[in-house]
Amino acid sequence: MEPGGTCFCGSTGTGPAVSEEYDLAYARLGGRVVFKVGSRKGLELVEELGLPRASEGVLKEYREAIDRARKLASRIPVVESFSKILEESATKEELWKEVSARCVGCANCNMVCPTCFCTEFIDSADLSGRGKRERLWFGCLSYTYGQVAGLHYRPELFMRYRHFVLHKFVFYQKQVGLAGCVGCGRCVTWCPVGVDLRETVQKVMNHVGR
Ligand code: SF4
Ligand code: SF4
Repeated sequence: MEPGGTCFCGSTGTGPAVSEEYDLAYARLGGRVVFKVGSRKGLELVEELGLPRASEGVLKEYREAIDRARKLASRIPVVESFSKILEESATKEELWKEVSARCVGCANCNMVCPTCFCTEFIDSADLSGRGKRERLWFGCLSYTYGQVAGLHYRPELFMRYRHFVLHKFVFYQKQVGLAGCVGCGRCVTWCPVGVDLRETVQKVMNHVGR
């Protein structure tokens, strides 16, 4: 059981083991698969399959593997310790220009992020008099996302990247009481130019102070 090289779910407190809202979770442990029951439905399934109960030795191995994975996936400090610092960094434009210097605004990070949900509306009409309004899944890193009524509320790329990061760790918290980042590392994996959210957080922390 090894976390991916870009995962940091230990820092966001969302992994590596699931702890609520599931029926059945599983983990590979050497040549075995260990199932963890989270609900009555999960229990019924395990009973139906006739799976044997794990021994104390296997459970110990499982807990150790989870602890090891958590340490490996704790590549930045825990979110609670830096969200205030990120908020304070919002006015430091030179810093955000520096940390976003490589970003090309492709919005890959938005498209692979499991918590990004923004959409954009496209209106069109044809000569028959009919029109249609389409809702497209979109991302805040795209230039057109911030265009409203002929103006733009985040015209520079660093503003869009700053918004992406602050939304994950500051605004989401205010909106729903949880961080908007689960530490999956997908945005790091799929960024074509190697922008790394973990490096951004670390740089901002170093600059603004702990
Ligand atoms: S690491 Fe966080 S911001 Fe990046 S894709 Fe995963 S949830 Fe989204
Ligand atoms: S994937 Fe990388 S280059 Fe593309 S918008 Fe996100 S941070 Fe910028």
